Amino acid sequence: MKQFSAFSLKSHNTFAVNAHCDSFVVLESIGDVKKAVGEGCFVGKFLILGGGSNILFTSDFHGTVVHPAFCGISLVGETEKSARVEAAAGESWEDLVAYTVANGYYGIENLTGIPGNVGSCPVQNIGAYGVEVKDVIAEVRAVKLDTGEQVTFSNPECCFGYRDSIFKKALKNKVLITSVVFEFSKMKKFTLTYTPLKNALQNCSELSLAKVVETVQSIRNSKLPQVGKVGSAGSFFKNPILPAESVVRLQQTYPELQTYNIDGQLVKLSAAQLIDLAGCKSWREGDVAVFPSQPLVIVNYGNATGGEIVRFYEKVQQAVSDKFGIMLETEVNIL
Ligand SMILES: Cc1cc2nc3c(=O)[nH]c(=O)nc-3n(C[C@H](O)[C@H](O)[C@H](O)COP(=O)(O)OP(=O)(O)OC[C@H]3O[C@@H](n4cnc5c(N)ncnc54)[C@H](O)[C@@H]3O)c2cc1C
Repeated sequence: MKQFSAFSLKSHNTFAVNAHCDSFVVLESIGDVKKAVGEGCFVGKFLILGGGSNILFTSDFHGTVVHPAFCGISLVGETEKSARVEAAAGESWEDLVAYTVANGYYGIENLTGIPGNVGSCPVQNIGAYGVEVKDVIAEVRAVKLDTGEQVTFSNPECCFGYRDSIFKKALKNKVLITSVVFEFSKMKKFTLTYTPLKNALQNCSELSLAKVVETVQSIRNSKLPQVGKVGSAGSFFKNPILPAESVVRLQQTYPELQTYNIDGQLVKLSAAQLIDLAGCKSWREGDVAVFPSQPLVIVNYGNATGGEIVRFYEKVQQAVSDKFGIMLETEVNIL
């Protein structure tokens, strides 16, 4: 366990906001998690921080930031058809994707290119290109922050939803996820429900994990800001989900609205399109802007403060609300 005080978080959040925390604790093992519980790191104001790619620091964090940094990927079970793999919280998500490609395990190839660590992937049930991580999570292992007890959550116990789980709600700040156990398929199967991915691969004579990864990365690179070059936290807002009848009413005025039927009763709209139609696509104030090739992303082109980003995103929310009567919900954790 390592501890630092008055620590800059600039290189620990992909928005690259130069916020400081009072104390920064690096956990190097599960033993360290229990030690941190014993030493009171989770009493008072604290934050568990993975790769900082889904967080906006609006100001300095006057408390303890705890960073699980222990790594490791291991095969913990296998049948002819599937492989059970356990990955530690501090493992980079992209390294796990690379491991599955190298071993011929199917399930998360569409999720390549998502920044962050394995310990965070269940928190918002990461998803992209027609796949959500909930579909391959068998169990989530964690330590309770009041007692230091180790606990395991089955997939249904995680209450996964769209960019949602129990770790964002009832268990927020109650547990630290130490590892995730995945169940990958060893049988060749791909999810090509996302039209641009399907189209990009339609002339591919032999589909492989490596080819899907390469294609997803090329689509992502064409529209998303590059981490480390342009500050962002990916999609800033969630796509709104509304009752079907409200969407039908909206479409009478805006027939161009893109809709994704969820279950007949609920319909998902594209937040990016709403932002675009509300006229915010080319907005920029100082170093904060809507990213032109993906309006769902708000970027920091340089030295924007957390406060400036907040004022900017609230204006975007207001513009969308004024035009469509829909208040966009943030996907990013605002601190
Ligand atoms: C350019 C870009 C593209 C992105 N694209 C996508 C995308 O396609 N799909 C998608 O779903 N997301 C996307 N994201 C968002 C982000 O990468 C994911 O949400 C990612 O899983 C966050 O991981 P992290 O380690 O950085 O989490 P952090 O930002 O560090 O933390 C996120 C939340 O998880 C909690 N947390 C972190 N670790 C633990 C732990 N061990 N135990 C308990 N709680 C914990 C934190 O307290 C916080 O509430 C993108 C972000 C960027 C910058």
